[in-house]
Amino acid sequence: MVGTGPGATDLVTPRARLAIESADVIAGYRTYLELVREFISEGQEVISSAMMQEVDRCRKALEAACAGRRVALVCGGDPGIYAMAGLVFELAQRAEKENPAPLPVIEIIPGIPALGSCAAILGAPLMHDFAAISLSDLLTPWELIEKRLHAAASADFVIVLYNPKSKKRAGHIEQARDIIMKYRPAHTPVGIVVSATREAESVELATLENMTGHDINMQTTVIVGNTRTFTWQGRMITPRGYDKKYSLG
Ligand code: SAH
Repeated sequence: MVGTGPGATDLVTPRARLAIESADVIAGYRTYLELVREFISEGQEVISSAMMQEVDRCRKALEAACAGRRVALVCGGDPGIYAMAGLVFELAQRAEKENPAPLPVIEIIPGIPALGSCAAILGAPLMHDFAAISLSDLLTPWELIEKRLHAAASADFVIVLYNPKSKKRAGHIEQARDIIMKYRPAHTPVGIVVSATREAESVELATLENMTGHDINMQTTVIVGNTRTFTWQGRMITPRGYDKKYSLG
């Protein structure tokens, strides 16, 4: 399982790169494979699939590994954050029950997740406790997502919203904003990063009140500040508390 980071080639770790270069088979979602194309050479087999075919992709990767091949299953960001690492373990667990043959070694190579790359672009919004919440209800009931939004917002966590909007669920981001607004002032800073470190990168600083007027799509991560988050020179900063403990002058 190889995490390739947010998109820029120089943010792919040397370990991830080596795993891709030394694999017999490389599997992944088409868009992510495209981002690491320069590490793939002709003799390597590529299993490329469309979005939403995670189960099929993981199963094929596992089958190839069981057949003794060295497989790199590529994920954007980190493979263990809203990606495929968990699914591979679930499938391996089932395979073990059905067939006691030894399973291949599963190694997870971490990558820079969207929350890290997007926070870095925005400034330092994640300096205090934060919660990541995906607004996709494909695998999670919307009621549970709402419950988590209430919990995180009421406890004043900085909130990182993953999968904020797709064509089928354009309204989720508005609903999420309305829930967070019950607990935070309308002027709370919100950072919106689209396609971090990729060609189409765009960054905007908004407020809770006006955030939904900005361009938000599936390649976007939205970071909602806590009640102490401030902006300065176009950056978004959440104080850790140093100013209270030590005099910063
Ligand atoms: N494993 C990935 C997350 C996959 S879920 C990770 O660790 O980052 C897909 C969601 O991640 C997208 O809907 C978006 O919210 C976020 N995302 C992934 N790459 C991004 C990027 N380059 N810029 C902004 N958001 C990104």
